[in-house]
Amino acid sequence: MRLLRSTDLALRVLMRLAVAGDSNPTTREVSTAMDVPYTHAAKVVAELQHRGLLTARRGRGGGLALTEKGRTASVGAVVRAFEGEGDVVDCEGTATSAPCPLSSACRLRGALRGAQEAFFASLDPVTVADIVAAPTGPLLLGISPRP
Ligand code: SF4
Repeated sequence: MRLLRSTDLALRVLMRLAVAGDSNPTTREVSTAMDVPYTHAAKVVAELQHRGLLTARRGRGGGLALTEKGRTASVGAVVRAFEGEGDVVDCEGTATSAPCPLSSACRLRGALRGAQEAFFASLDPVTVADIVAAPTGPLLLGISPRP
């Protein structure tokens, strides 16, 4: 299973902010540090702000900050939120492809759903704070431009 780019970017932003302390980096600083395009980072930041995982203040003295909800957020919950919980295979077809002929009675479909849920569930107990423990946290600080 391959994650959407936006899911990975969301986790990168959360990780960077989890080690930021009181420095409140800007979206541009985070995007530069985490090597992601600014426009992608800005969209992800807006979504994370909407979910209450970070705050974003404009202007002098502003910047991004992880909320307590963001620090304790489950990685599984973040991944579910950005990935959605649709089928990993497009059984019902798209505007340009017909539904799979087995879609109404397919055991593989159920097995894949189970595997997808197991994947998410394995990430549920892991928090954002957990994934910036050493050696990741010190590395994140080392690669980030100082504000
Ligand atoms: S074989 Fe089953 S899982 Fe695969 S596309 Fe068809 S309905 Fe979906």
